[in-house]
Amino acid sequence: MRLRLVTGNAHKLEEYGSILRGLDCRLPLEELDAESAVECGVTYYQNAYRKARSGILSVPPSGLDDWIVLGDDSGLELPLFDNMPGVHSARFRYANLSERAALGAFLTEHHVLSTPARFVCWIVAFLPRSSWCLACSGAVTGTVTAESRGSRGFGYDPLFTPDGYSLTFGEMDPGLKDHISHRARAARALWCSLQGALPLGP
Ligand code: IMP
Repeated sequence: MRLRLVTGNAHKLEEYGSILRGLDCRLPLEELDAESAVECGVTYYQNAYRKARSGILSVPPSGLDDWIVLGDDSGLELPLFDNMPGVHSARFRYANLSERAALGAFLTEHHVLSTPARFVCWIVAFLPRSSWCLACSGAVTGTVTAESRGSRGFGYDPLFTPDGYSLTFGEMDPGLKDHISHRARAARALWCSLQGALPLGP
């Protein structure tokens, strides 16, 4: 049984490779080299479902016999601002800036130096030889600051400090992020559900 992740994001692919290996996963992770599903859903689940579905549709049915096809979607939520940017995180723009710089500028303009936040991730997995899919989610809470710290990771990582830590995801060892992140939590939940749904063997 093998996993195929539908993503155009090389950082995510690297993180999933590390997360699933950390779980003693015996399934190799492979990239489907096109993110053919446009993110047009209003929920993370819808976007994750569309990506996984696009992965299923791009492979001949006979080639999918032993593949679990995964799609995921994630975002950063700020309760102080009605959970924005949320599902629109990848497309958040402010003052002609994109993503991380935009959020930093937005917070500065609103005189918010730091505020509670959470990263959320949903994963949808299509199971082989079945019309079933599984959906799992994970979240990590913390604080977002207007100022960036660190150059590791991607996206909003240098703005986000997880609860219980003093380093941002941008400063942290990637192995630690891959242990506590929203993605890691969703992947662990998926892994547990898959063991119940499939005869994976020892
Ligand atoms: P998507 O899941 O590919 O749609 O990504 C959504 C956006 O959320 C990304 O472009 C990032 O801006 C942000 N994001 C999701 N997960 C992370 C993370 O682990 N670190 C930093 N930013 C993230």
